Formats: sequence, C-alpha cells, structure tokens
Amino acid sequence: MAQATICEIDLQDYLYEMESFHGGRSPGMVLGGFMVDRAMRELGPVEHLNVVCETVMCLPDAVQLLTGCTAGNGYLQVMDWGKYALTAYDRISLNGVRVWLDMDGVAQTDLIKKWYTRTGEPREKPEFTELAKEIVEHAGILLASRPVTLPKQLKRKRPVMTALCPACGESYPADLGDKCPGCSGQAYYE
Ligand SMILES: [Zn+2]
Repeated sequence: MAQATICEIDLQDYLYEMESFHGGRSPGMVLGGFMVDRAMRELGPVEHLNVVCETVMCLPDAVQLLTGCTAGNGYLQVMDWGKYALTAYDRISLNGVRVWLDMDGVAQTDLIKKWYTRTGEPREKPEFTELAKEIVEHAGILLASRPVTLPKQLKRKRPVMTALCPACGESYPADLGDKCPGCSGQAYYE
C-alpha cells in the first residue's frame, strides 16, 4: 500500500503546501518529500538536525518545507553536485543517514525513468499528476539509504574575522584570501 504521509503530514496536504512553497507542481518535490521522510525516520529524533542536499534542484525546498533546516539559518547546506541525494545528521554527534535515488528502482518504473533520465521524446514529457502518482506508488523501491558519519559539521562554527577588500572596499571573511571572492576572479556578475 502506498505511503499516506510525509513527515507526519498528510500526503495531500504536503502536495498542496509544496505547490505554494515551491511555486509550482514539481515531481522533484514529491520525490524529495519521500527522501526527507525516509532520512528522518531512519535517523530518529535528534536535537541538532542539519541536512546536506547534493543538488540545487527542488530537493532543498523539500528540506526547507519539512524540517527546520533552511539556507538562511545555516542548517541546510546545498552542494551543486547534480545528485538526487541528501544526508540528515546531528551536527554534534555527526551521525547521520544518507538517502539517495536508487537507479535500480528507477529502472523498474516507466514515467519516473523517462522524467529522471530525460529519455523518451521531449514532447511526451510526463504529465505531473501521472508522474506524481507513480512516485507515490513506487516510493518504497526508489530510495536507498545507509548510516553515515561526517568528519566535521559543515556549518561554520563561529564567525570569522572580517577584512576590507582592497579592491572593492566591501567587507568579507578574511580567511578567504587577500581580496574578496568577487575581486579574486569568482564574480558571477559583470
Ligand atoms: Zn572585493
């Protein structure tokens, strides 16, 4: 029987909240909800929850909607690895659970496989309702997980010294080098 709740929220309520929080109906958010649910159930209650997402797509929003971990409070770290995986861990004990998309499970599906591996004709992009239904029905075989330990917590423990960048005059963390990242060739703007 398909799972009816996500992190103790009724599945229908989650789908509704997902749409308003994420700004649209997203298969990645549906899948992400099950990933967060699985990680939290296997990790059990922890006092100092942190989450690491290994993709910038959709998954961070599922974490922010379902846990107290956000990009702004620093308890959610987002890596741009393009992997549909996350780790929930206690930042004091450093013990956690990593959950990832099991491609053997994906291979047993129809729409999910087309959507996730971007196969099939571009025109026949699966319709959301059908795809979401398949995700809900196959949630049990789509995910894999295992306990992990982190060598250190990913959130900066204490504020670092700041310096004034000699090139732009703005303040930045002094441990990043002689100039701010923007003036050291990493600017994302022109
Ligand atoms: Zn600068």
